[in-house]
Amino acid sequence: MIRERVIECQTAEEVVDFADKKTDSSEYPPCLLDQKEVEHILFMMGVLWQYKGEPAKEKPHALITSGKHSDGYIDLGMLCKNFPEVRLMFAYNLAWAARVRIKINWKYAWVVGADTSSTALARDVANILGAKHIKMVKITHNSGEKKQWCEIAPPEDYSQLGLQIEDVINTGLSARQVREGIRNVFPNAGFLPIMPVIVNRSDPNSPVKAIGDSIIISLLRLEMRNYGLEECPYCRVGSEAIVPKEGDNWKRLTEV
Ligand SMILES: [Zn+2]
Repeated sequence: MIRERVIECQTAEEVVDFADKKTDSSEYPPCLLDQKEVEHILFMMGVLWQYKGEPAKEKPHALITSGKHSDGYIDLGMLCKNFPEVRLMFAYNLAWAARVRIKINWKYAWVVGADTSSTALARDVANILGAKHIKMVKITHNSGEKKQWCEIAPPEDYSQLGLQIEDVINTGLSARQVREGIRNVFPNAGFLPIMPVIVNRSDPNSPVKAIGDSIIISLLRLEMRNYGLEECPYCRVGSEAIVPKEGDNWKRLTEV
């Protein structure tokens, strides 16, 4: 049975089934998702957690990759890698978000997204829009600094712009690195003044609203705060900071 709205799906399997059926039909766009539905999908797929209520000793909080403590956790990379049906449904929504805003005189020819988590997503969006996909590769310099690099330059037609998409915006660092990487091989590369992303989770105290001249259009805006150890309000009340996807930590985070 094809469900009418994804919000009715009660398990990850049902979400995958929904996405598979919707993206396999001739309907375009296959399913326009609102913010609530995007949040529901992420929650159902087990890639989103947010702290509920005031900081409390018995409720743990998240220790994220950067070493900071956080009141939220999201892993769209895992979702995009393991669930191509759901990724494609998001790709249609990103392509649609771009298409409805593209002015007639904006010529675009290529789509790019950061390595690693946005690579397949950007490829899907490029296919949907009939544009070329520019693949980025993450490299680590001798200094330890990570950069985004493109092995094949975008088409050298300066009138043709690129559309940058991303799965998630946190600080905007990797999105900015993509632009640097592109301009290292194509100094005059231009980008469309919009940048569709699935989730903008940037800190509400310093929100990321644009990358360069491209305004971020998110399918879902989440407000998550990251803290250094000394300033963490959760540690202050005795809440434990745990790595979300380690051992049974996910259960501990989501079941309290
Ligand atoms: Zn803490």
